[in-house]
Amino acid sequence: RAKSTPAADICFYQARMDAVVRDRRRLADDLRMAPGAGQLSLHYQRQVETGTGRVSGHEALMRWQHPVRGFVSPAEFIPVAEATGLILMLGEWALRTACVQAVAEPRLGKVAVNLSPVQFRQPGLPALVADVLRQTGLPPSRLELEITESTLMQDPARTLEMLREIKSLGVSVAMDDFGTGHSSLATLRAFPFDKIKLDRSFMPEVDSNQQARAILRAVLGIGRGLGIPVLAEGVETSAVLDSLRDEGCAEAQGYLLGRPLPVQALDFPDTSKEAA
Ligand code: C2E
Ligand code: MG
Ligand code: MG
Ligand code: MG
Repeated sequence: RAKSTPAADICFYQARMDAVVRDRRRLADDLRMAPGAGQLSLHYQRQVETGTGRVSGHEALMRWQHPVRGFVSPAEFIPVAEATGLILMLGEWALRTACVQAVAEPRLGKVAVNLSPVQFRQPGLPALVADVLRQTGLPPSRLELEITESTLMQDPARTLEMLREIKSLGVSVAMDDFGTGHSSLATLRAFPFDKIKLDRSFMPEVDSNQQARAILRAVLGIGRGLGIPVLAEGVETSAVLDSLRDEGCAEAQGYLLGRPLPVQALDFPDTSKEAA
């Protein structure tokens, strides 16, 4: 546009917004069909004990192969799914599929499934978890649920009640992306987490930068004080892994240790823990 007037700018902006809204609506329509159309799958990324190198479990990560758009990243479709409520269906699909695949492949060990804050607004969530375990036959000790700080923010009392119910099934619960939200030390103490996952944004400089190293030490100190093991996310270099080992970080996950892959494409080292 050679010349623009304020009115033209507004029109242009409006048209662009309309396009964005239309695009999201179309994405949501397609997402609704995705499970039935067989376009969803789970990839698994291994989690490793830094001390022994043993595989302690795998995180299940949702993938969407769209017929026209190709691969759509969860960073793009999870927010759409949450805004439209479709996450309830997708989340149940992920939970059920992870349990079925874990039963079929014992070498997955413990599987970690991500839960959205939206799923915690459903009072039936603990019952759903119990049903899926019963229907698939996965031992509860092989399931871990990952929740983020935003889940705890929305209704702490009710969330705590639901977490207790879920844990009473024998399922473990991990705090995901720790360090990116607003949870205080009091939150960590009040909620019955079995694991703290330190967000990957801290990782790249842990081997080289004093501040990053100090944050790692502080989080490990909190974990030790509360008796909760810490897993470091986003480990991409052996220098970072060495630092984690030196500092006594129990577990790690990241491209260095293994990319997320379909279950048939995973390789299971002999050292991996036998499933109970
Ligand atoms: P998350 O739960 O924190 O998962 C870890 C993300 O980090 C994954 O991205 C993983 O592929 C990526 N990652 C792993 N190792 C590395 C590394 O070394 N470097 C870097 N840069 N990244 C690494 P992904 O698969 O794209 O998923 C993004 C987010 O989408 C997840 O973050 C999670 O919040 C959400 N998500 C994925 N699957 C599900 C699901 O089934 N349900 C829900 N509610 N959310 C999901
Ligand atoms: Mg996660
Ligand atoms: Mg994470
Ligand atoms: Mg993340």
